[in-house]
Amino acid sequence: MQDKKIDLHVHSKYSDGLLSPAEIVDYAVKRNVSAISITDHDTAAGIESFVRAGNLAGIETVAGIELSVNFNNRELHLLGYCFDSKHPQIKSYSKTLKAAREERAEETVKLLNDLGFPVSMQQVLDISGTSPIGRPHIAEALVRGNFVFNIRDAFNKYLAEGKPAYVPKIVITPADAIQLIKNAGGLTFLAHPGTGSIEESEIRELSELGLDGLETIHPKHTNRDIRYLEELSAKYNLLQTGGSDCHGGREGGIILGTLSIPYSFLNAIKKLQIVGT
Ligand code: AMP
Ligand code: FE
Ligand code: FE
Ligand code: ZN
Repeated sequence: MQDKKIDLHVHSKYSDGLLSPAEIVDYAVKRNVSAISITDHDTAAGIESFVRAGNLAGIETVAGIELSVNFNNRELHLLGYCFDSKHPQIKSYSKTLKAAREERAEETVKLLNDLGFPVSMQQVLDISGTSPIGRPHIAEALVRGNFVFNIRDAFNKYLAEGKPAYVPKIVITPADAIQLIKNAGGLTFLAHPGTGSIEESEIRELSELGLDGLETIHPKHTNRDIRYLEELSAKYNLLQTGGSDCHGGREGGIILGTLSIPYSFLNAIKKLQIVGT
């Protein structure tokens, strides 16, 4: 029998993904994925409908969130799992961050206008809908105005860190993020460590702050990254997670469920969660 497959890093319409939670569950069924986690940026608003859709389809759902944190003067992402998505602290965090993202988007639009691109806040809001605004929504407005070739081009020329329309986000510290997830009963993992320049000493520091594990499997990780991160997990007694980081095809094809991530990762997460509660 083939091992059960999981995907614990997926973005929905509730942040900068293109698929609804129910559509994500449909893809999980089609691709034979046994368990899935929606990990929207700074919000758990999609979890309720996700769990409902998962129950109907017989797919195991894991509550998830991807939090942006500032660590040693750069942005890192932490994945929270298995927490109470209706916890008051999670709700108020999402609400504050949503308002901050709107202010940030207004600043970005002003910078783009100064650069000569007549995109408007209304266009950006039409694209983001009810979701917290992310740079991909602003990139989409630039694409629709024919000011760039595609989303990647928008980031490379204007929206990426260091480019002329980049505005930093308000972010919390790793300690606060880990505490927030812990308070809501969940576990915290460092997302895609292979995509930045993280030092071993920093992983040790994060684990001392209460980090539970590392995302070892991610589409941007090379086999070498994966092996190195596996070694670090063993050395610091950290769990592992993995996911496609699928955004519903915003940056290309729908990659949900295309990586082979073992169900044993989720078993270990669930065991630790039971011990912790
Ligand atoms: P934000 O949270 O508003 O700063 O937006 C971050 C999101 O933008 C990431 O999660 C990715 O979905 C997307 N993103 C970041 N950098 C790039 C890039 N170079 N090309 C395409 N998408 C990107
Ligand atoms: Fe994203
Ligand atoms: Fe991320
Ligand atoms: Zn992500």
